[in-house]
Amino acid sequence: MRSKHLLVGNWKMNLGPTQARSFAEALLSGIQSVTRTDVWIAPPAISLCHAADVLSGSPIVLGGQNVHWATNGAFTGETSPAFLREAGARFSLVGHSERRIYFGETSDTVAQRTKAALNEGLTPIVCIGETEGERVSGKTERVLEEQLAPVFEQVSNDDSARVVLAYEPVWAIGTGRVASLSEIQSTHAFILALWASRGYQHEGVVLYGGSVNPQNFGSILALKEVDGALVGGASIKLDQWLQLIAIAEHTPLAG
Ligand code: PEP
Repeated sequence: MRSKHLLVGNWKMNLGPTQARSFAEALLSGIQSVTRTDVWIAPPAISLCHAADVLSGSPIVLGGQNVHWATNGAFTGETSPAFLREAGARFSLVGHSERRIYFGETSDTVAQRTKAALNEGLTPIVCIGETEGERVSGKTERVLEEQLAPVFEQVSNDDSARVVLAYEPVWAIGTGRVASLSEIQSTHAFILALWASRGYQHEGVVLYGGSVNPQNFGSILALKEVDGALVGGASIKLDQWLQLIAIAEHTPLAG
């Protein structure tokens, strides 16, 4: 449980350097004061410095969409944790389902990326989630457990305070099919129980991701098992993103 809601925008492969800069400027002029909500954004790596130029010194925190485990070396196309930090990032997504599905990332490499992010002082947002087939055949909990096991191996008790988990059912990402409140509630409760069974002294933090929009966000965030949201599509539509921030600001903090 966090002391503030956490709203994270994943721009995916949208908003190159010029558009990132103008979006960041528009966001800065449209955003009201935020006291209950941490607002984080993950632009494409090539746009990060441009967004940082505009947003540094503002309450908006920037991060990467992925991070490699090495500091530098022969890893064409990858971004090192140190490079991300230097460019202005303070967190990184790891294990997004699009990385797992289209780029063959495994839970073991996701765990290595998580550890490298932690070592560099970046907050890893570890994304986990089942496919539709896995949910229908009752395998959701097993899949989540298997995705998290190697990550837990890499996260020490001390580091556990700096890890964020994002439950993102694959069938809900970018489809307009949001998970039901009872699916979110029971799955987050399961993830929190897995986290607790690991013996971490810090409580787990779990975001929901998958077709979040201004119509469904309020009731999702009101669930006590939900610490915030990871948002794709609605995070690059300025009016919707501002509405999501306003909803989080108006939603009481649980506990
Ligand atoms: C995401 O990219 O993590 C995501 C949840 O996308 P969307 O909000 O578009 O479903």
